[in-house]
Parts: sequence; structure tokens; C-alpha cells
Amino acid sequence: MPTLSTPGVASGRLSADEIAERFGDLHPPYNEHEAHVAAARCYFCHDAPCMHACPTEIDIPLFIRQIATGTPEAAARTIFTQNILGGICARVCPTENLCEEACVREKAEGAPVQIGRLQRYATDSLMDEGIHPFTRAPETGKRIAVVGAGPAGLACAHRLAMYGHRVEIFDSKPRGGGLNEYGIAAYKAPGGFAQAELNWLMQIGGITAEYDRKLGQHFSLGELQDGFDAVFLGLGLSGANALVLEGEHAGLAHAVDWIEQVRQSEDKTDVPVGQDVVVIGGGMTAVDAAVQAKLLGARSSTIIYRRDKAAMSASEFEQGLAAEKGVNILFNAVPRAMSANSITIARTESKGGKLVTTGEETILHADQVLVASGQALGSTPEVLEFEAGKIAIDGPGRTSVPGVWAGGDCAAGGDDLTVTAVAEGRDAAEDIHATLTGSA
Ligand SMILES: Cc1cc2nc3c(=O)[nH]c(=O)nc-3n(C[C@H](O)[C@H](O)[C@H](O)COP(=O)(O)OP(=O)(O)OC[C@H]3O[C@@H](n4cnc5c(N)ncnc54)[C@H](O)[C@@H]3O)c2cc1C
Ligand code: SF4
Repeated sequence: MPTLSTPGVASGRLSADEIAERFGDLHPPYNEHEAHVAAARCYFCHDAPCMHACPTEIDIPLFIRQIATGTPEAAARTIFTQNILGGICARVCPTENLCEEACVREKAEGAPVQIGRLQRYATDSLMDEGIHPFTRAPETGKRIAVVGAGPAGLACAHRLAMYGHRVEIFDSKPRGGGLNEYGIAAYKAPGGFAQAELNWLMQIGGITAEYDRKLGQHFSLGELQDGFDAVFLGLGLSGANALVLEGEHAGLAHAVDWIEQVRQSEDKTDVPVGQDVVVIGGGMTAVDAAVQAKLLGARSSTIIYRRDKAAMSASEFEQGLAAEKGVNILFNAVPRAMSANSITIARTESKGGKLVTTGEETILHADQVLVASGQALGSTPEVLEFEAGKIAIDGPGRTSVPGVWAGGDCAAGGDDLTVTAVAEGRDAAEDIHATLTGSA
């Protein structure tokens, strides 16, 4: 029976109960009293900066006022009007870089109104009752194919269905939700929230979903163009940047693949984790992998990041969370070589605006090496035009191919966040609707 001190990579280092406790909700939900206290801190600003900082432009002062006046269901409607995935966004948005960073109380006192937690209180209150706040317009007879059931595809599908169009979603995975289901850290959306939200969203009607159906393998873009009035691509980034290093390491894996294992495991006792884990990267994926490795019982979990703290794309909050969970972050360090159970690290510094190695090297013991050095577009129809490795789009998601839109992580621009994917899917749906009804 493996324990915390079992060397190498092993599953079952902790009991199911211990793991369940460690993977509990990162921010437990507010009760009614807490929500009222938090809402009372809002100044209900005119032309509120928090609202402009939200990629989906939710009317934040309005929904907070609705909570303050004891109508959280109305607050939820305000949120869902702009962002139908307001439930997951309330859990995963890096609010410290978005609405809460812009909040006037953050600027004045360094303590913003807790917008994310209030959004969760409001959205949970309606979703827990199973109420879907919108009804579908009469059938238009138009059919739209949405490829990808992640946040971008789901937001697009829901908005189109609301307008009375018929939507067919195709996704290559066995379940919908995209990275909400397969990628987001388990402690951010526990309790099967991604599937519950998906089922709730589908209550609008007019949407069917086919899983295990991959564009480029089971059907082509041309077939979709022939069979539907419009096509939306919300493919995300299913490829991963490879790490090319001298030497071989048996415990080398892509962080996103390993995180998917964590997310899909029922009680997580079957997820293999090293005693000493090294994660290479500087973004949210790196932090999620390193934190979850620690929560699964790794003795040490170390992030190797090539630049300094300020350059790390994981936010201050994420970095703080990593520290709190016992993850070490080695800044200014790049991997040089691997062996069976170690990794050689070279120190770096910035010289004349360039990142160079200093000549200093360290060897770290590592049973498991998780690579989180960025994702890339998977195989995508070549007829499309590309920009900086993503699908080129114009305005609200129009690709270079007439009748084909794209949004979310697979589309150029944007900042690879759940909330941005939702905004892009929704805006593309508006443009598809306007195009199909001749009002564009
Ligand atoms: C580990 C990790 C943690 C993250 N944590 C956060 C976080 O805490 N907060 C945050 O805001 N963002 C986070 N992100 C980013 C966020 O998850 C993405 O920005 C968001 O999911 C993008 O949505 P999307 O719909 O564009 O793509 P995805 O969520 O990737 O969905 C794309 C869907 O398309 C499907 N697909 C792909 N190719 C095909 C094909 N050829 N045929 C059919 N279907 C296909 C996939 O199966 C998938 O379901 C994280 C990302 C990762 C990797
Ligand atoms: S900026 Fe802060 S105080 Fe002003 S409306 Fe937004 S949440 Fe309320």
C-alpha cells in the first residue's frame, strides 16, 4: 500500500477521505448573511469600472444591488443575460486581474468588493432551484453546427438556440464542457459542477450534442458547410508544446494530460503522482498541476519558471495559492537535461532585454516531470487562414471562410480565459444570427 514516503510515481498515497478533504471547494459559497454584508460594500458606481473590466460586461453594480435588496434570482438573471456560463466563471475567473482589480474599493483600500463570490451566490441560487431563466424564440428553421462543447461553443450554442435556431454540437471527447470538465483545477469546480451546468444550459431546448465525434476524422468542414446554415468552431487548444531535452525521464508527461486524469478520476486515489514532482511552466496550468500534485500527496512539488516573478502569467493570487499549498517556485530557471529520476536546471538572467543562462546549474531529484509550457491548436482545416498559430478572425469571430465563425482559445487574439471564450462564443452567435436573418 503506497504512502507519502513511497519513492517514485505511485497512486493511492492518501486515502479517499483525505483526498476529498484536500480537494474541497477553494472558496466555499457565501450564505445569505455573508452575501448581504459583502454586497453592502459596493458603492454602485455610475459607469462602473468593474463592469468594463469584465470581458462579458456583466452589469455588476446592478446584480450586487439585486443581492442587497434580497432578490438573488434577479441578480442571476442579470448575470446570465450577459454570460450564460456565469456559474463556472464565478468559480474560475481570475477576478483579481479583472473586475476586482478595477473595483474602486481595491484602488482606495486594497480590498475590492468580492464580486466573484457574490456572482457565485447569485448564480447558485437560481441553478440550485433548477430554474432556467430564458425561453427559446419560435423555431426559425435555420441549423447551425457548433464544433467544440467548451465555454465558447456552449455560449454560442445557447445564444443561437435562444433565437430559435437549431444547434448541433459535435465534440471529440466523451463528455461536454471542454476544459471546464477536463482542465480546470478540481478544487475550483468540485461536485461535478461542469456537467450540472451543461445540463442546466441545455434546458433552453433546440440543442443536441454528439460526443466522440471529431472534426477532421469523423466529418469534414466541407460536410458541415453543406449540411448547415452556419458553422462555429470552438476547438480550444488541444495540442501541447513539446519539451525537447537531452536525456530521458520515465515520469515525463504533459501537465494538461495529467490534470485530465485528476479531473476524470472519481476519488483520485488512482492518479499516479511522484514523490518529488517538477512542473515546467509559468501559467495557470503549471500552478494547477503543481498544487494538485501536492494535494495528492507529493513530498515536494516545484515549479521551474524561466523568467522572474513579475513576468509569470499565473496571477499573484495563483502564486500565493501555490505557496500556501507548499509548492516551491524556482524563478529564473530553465530545464537543461533529464535522467531517470532527476532534472538539471540552469539559472537565467535578463541581460540587455534578452534571457540568458548564467552558467550556474542545479540538479533536482524528480520522480515525475510535468510539462506546462503552453498549448497549441490541434489539427484544424487547412482551408482556414491562421494568425500567430491560431484561426484568424475578423470582428465577432468571422473566419476567412464565409459561413464559418470561430471563437475561444482557438481563435487569434483574446487571452485564453474561460470568460473570454464565453464572450467570443456569445458575440459570434449574435453575428451569425444577424447574418442569417439579414440584419447584419
Ligand atoms: C489546466 C488549465 C487550467 C485552466 N484554468 C483556468 C482558470 O482557472 N480560469 C480561467 O479563466 N481559465 C482557465 N483556463 C483556460 C480556460 O480553460 C480556457 O480559456 C477555456 O476553456 C477556453 O474555452 P474554449 O471553449 O475555447 O476551449 P476548450 O475549453 O478547450 O473546449 C474546446 C472543445 O473542443 C473540442 N475539440 C477540439 N478539437 C476538436 C475537433 N477536431 N473535433 C471536435 N471537437 C473538438 C474539445 O474536446 C473541447 O471540448 C485553464 C486552462 C487549462 C489548460
Ligand atoms: S467598482 Fe466596486 S464599488 Fe464600484 S460598482 Fe464595481 S464592485 Fe461596486
